[in-house]
Amino acid sequence: MLPAEDFGIAQVYDAGRKKIVIFGGVTPMFEKIAAMGHEQVVLCHDPSVGYRGIIAIHSTVLGPAVGGTRFWPYATEEEAFVDALRLARGMTYKNAVAGLKCGGGKAVIIGDNRRTDREALFRAHGRFIERLGGCFITGEDVGTTATDMEYVHMETNFVGGISERGGDPSPWTAQGVFRGIQASAMYKWGADDLSGKRVAIQGCGSVGYHLAKALREAGATLIVADLDPDRARRVAVDFNAVAVEPESIISVEADIFAPCALGGIINDHTIPQLRAEIVAGAANNQLLEARHGEALMTRGILYAPDYVINAGGVINGIIAMNGGDPAQRRSAVYGIYDTLLTLFEMAALEGIPTFLAADHLAEQRLRSG
Ligand code: NAD
Repeated sequence: MLPAEDFGIAQVYDAGRKKIVIFGGVTPMFEKIAAMGHEQVVLCHDPSVGYRGIIAIHSTVLGPAVGGTRFWPYATEEEAFVDALRLARGMTYKNAVAGLKCGGGKAVIIGDNRRTDREALFRAHGRFIERLGGCFITGEDVGTTATDMEYVHMETNFVGGISERGGDPSPWTAQGVFRGIQASAMYKWGADDLSGKRVAIQGCGSVGYHLAKALREAGATLIVADLDPDRARRVAVDFNAVAVEPESIISVEADIFAPCALGGIINDHTIPQLRAEIVAGAANNQLLEARHGEALMTRGILYAPDYVINAGGVINGIIAMNGGDPAQRRSAVYGIYDTLLTLFEMAALEGIPTFLAADHLAEQRLRSG
């Protein structure tokens, strides 16, 4: 799990391009930014269309920085900047562990993501991406859609997630999570057959729905919850699942808990309530703090590190961009199974939590370029 630093912004030095970007003046927090090691951070502004964006490139050591574009009504510019930095670094780790020849980056656009006049905004975003000459490639993220990426594509080729390049990432993410759950079962119980296993799914959105389908087809019994009762009901009807209230999903009798809603779900409050032996799901940043990963290990609960198990969408997108056919993409996404088994074994060998083994693997790949 990557540390959730709390910092301000001073300067970002683009080593590759010998350029310094100044943001918000010099603050005592500059050293923390430098410690995160971003290569380049670009502030983009096109007042004619009300566009303000930040593109953070954390690492291009393994290849062009790849990461989605988040559209969010940040309360302050600093908040947006910090989010971009943190998310970009997370992508470096995710892409490295996934074995992709990609670095990590992320873009954020500040504003109301319910805005309906989107073409001019996303075309402006695309023009800034184009100017970066291919060192940043984007796709969908929170608040953006495949249609938004089509607008970006009108201005630049450095974009995935559009229909001709892998399309909606959610079904692929769900496939990767399903394979990750199988790998977790194999490691924990010595067999990856999920028939008769009880899986509690928190969140029945894009990924949760497709995951429920795959699990049901594999013979698992499902317990599901969503803040939106219609979504939970739909999964219950389509896949013969039992829908429970959102506050009960953590503590239901289950073999596997699959978080597919929001981050921070593994924390001091929820860990004592968990009855599952495996935590494996799509949500980003599942551990509220690193010590919660340690607490899961102490309780003997196997944790499939979030950014490893949920990499199916980005794996599919990148391979599609490079001309990979559906069979190649599927095989790469299915590889999450082996990656997780390797990580579980590494963690056991070193006596460390699985999230730390994932970080170590990413750092090792970055060191060897
Ligand atoms: P989504 O918005 O389609 O679905 C999330 C669902 O969770 C919503 O239906 C929401 O109502 C529900 N929810 C929120 N809080 C809840 C709670 N406390 N209890 C129960 N339900 C709750 O999002 P998604 O695309 O399905 O993504 C799910 C998670 O996976 C997110 O954390 C996302 O960042 C992560 N993720 C998604 C992808 C992808 O390809 N979509 C890739 C990697 C990671």
